[in-house]
Amino acid sequence: MRKPIIAGNWKMHKTTLEAINLVNALKRELYNLENVDIVVCPPFTLLNEISEIIQESNIGLGGQDLFWEGEGAFTGEVSAKMLKDVGCSYVIIGHSERRKYFGETDETVNKKLRAALKEELIPIVCIGESLEQREEGKTFDIVKEQIVQGFKDLSAEEILKVIIAYEPIWAIGTGRTATPEQAEEVHRFIRQQISEIYNEEIASLIRIQYGGSVKVENIEELIKQEDIDGALVGGASLEADSFVEIVKRVNQ
Ligand code: PEP
Repeated sequence: MRKPIIAGNWKMHKTTLEAINLVNALKRELYNLENVDIVVCPPFTLLNEISEIIQESNIGLGGQDLFWEGEGAFTGEVSAKMLKDVGCSYVIIGHSERRKYFGETDETVNKKLRAALKEELIPIVCIGESLEQREEGKTFDIVKEQIVQGFKDLSAEEILKVIIAYEPIWAIGTGRTATPEQAEEVHRFIRQQISEIYNEEIASLIRIQYGGSVKVENIEELIKQEDIDGALVGGASLEADSFVEIVKRVNQ
């Protein structure tokens, strides 16, 4: 039985005061939910503050990115150890915005993934096709390539610690969600790929989140799908009301 996981990706939003208000509301509203893992991924500047607020709560903390080196002259970067030190248990890797604006590739995803696993952070690895690739019928090829290259040489033990987020790029921040059937089709394909590379048991255990304009109105249909194990939520995680409602509907 895979426990669903809902993670909020705050992207480049929130000042300290805004973040404190949001996370206090989440803590208040979500404290008694047990059937779902809850994670927030604020910008680096807020991690310390949020970490203190959510101590001993059922809300986990994640970074939005990391660098693969442990330390050194890498201006602007943050290591896995630093994330761990500030209280993170999770880290998002290879978000399509990182791939688009900061030149990340499956190769850098693989390096970051190894760095995260080495520090025992749970990686949330984002994969997904662009609209053009979907329209050209290349969705499965793209997703397969991202899995093969991104997870290259990961052992069975390591892959079991990974959470995959299927995020069709055309659905991120656009208000255009994949239909539950479209999402499920790709989730099933991802699970098959994991089964082929590793084995059926590992494929049945690995959690695959959907991401792309998830909101209160569509979460229930998405989570009903057999291979959808939660969501990576952008826009709707920025307001307490919508994030709380999404988490509650998944908890049921
Ligand atoms: C995301 O940030 O990964 C995301 C899916 O954003 P949104 O929910 O706003 O589409």
